[in-house]
Amino acid sequence: MPIEELSEDLTKVPTAHPAVRFDRVTKRFGDHTVLDGLDLEVARGERVTLIGPSGSGKTTILRLLMTLERVTDGVIHVDGQPFSHMPGRTAGKLVPASERHLAARRRRIGMVFQQFNLFPHMSVLENVVEAPVHVLGEGREEAGLRARELLDLVGLSDKVDARPTRLSGGQQQRVAIARALAMRPEILLLDEVTSALDPELVAEVLDVLRDVARRTDITLLCVTHEMGFARDVSDRILMFDGGRIVESGPADALLDAPGEERTRAFLSSVR
Ligand code: ADP
Repeated sequence: MPIEELSEDLTKVPTAHPAVRFDRVTKRFGDHTVLDGLDLEVARGERVTLIGPSGSGKTTILRLLMTLERVTDGVIHVDGQPFSHMPGRTAGKLVPASERHLAARRRRIGMVFQQFNLFPHMSVLENVVEAPVHVLGEGREEAGLRARELLDLVGLSDKVDARPTRLSGGQQQRVAIARALAMRPEILLLDEVTSALDPELVAEVLDVLRDVARRTDITLLCVTHEMGFARDVSDRILMFDGGRIVESGPADALLDAPGEERTRAFLSSVR
């Protein structure tokens, strides 16, 4: 397929606003504070990887963006608009977004999880076509053409008619990537996408994601323990510990010459 067309398609008109802005975001589960007044900005088209020990709040950040969790305090903005909130009755006052608003906003964000969760009774193509047709209201023919392009991008042109259960874990995860992109998300979230895979299948999935990163302008937020991948795809790496950013910097600088002891300790634990 003409890749130029795909990258055109996924490129959004640049604006002055960051793609994502966390403004003093706090998230508590009961009396456990996971994020404590977090400020975070991700520019349009930027690729940011979150690293840090287990339990440091990385997945919670992705789940807040996916509207799977609600903020306890603070506001999340996407493309300069309140995302976690909406204007209240009183002028200038924001209130937590209603379920209906959150559902609409959720469509702007794509997410690929550890578990691929494909529909086993549908073909690979139908898995990718399903959401654009039923959620975005695209025509079946148009959605089918685009699904084929995306399956080509992830190297699965020859598997469009296969059932997911006949595919390897790596191939299933590549279908999940195509399915996420089919929704034309502004932001793609990748949460430990290779953790559930056998080691020999990790490389093919990471290669596909490197390709997606290279050929599109999509804003990317990743959580991964694959430091080689983080280095290749990220403009910036953020090191988290205890729900706070310990250190942040360009991928090479942070990985090769971390300034903080906690970053050094974490990196030596995953290498
Ligand atoms: P990471 O992705 O860095 O491993 P998480 O964001 O998954 O960290 O989790 C951060 C903390 O929040 C952990 O202590 C975890 O137990 C807690 N947590 C996450 N989700 C929930 C939940 N739904 N209920 C209670 N605690 C949670």
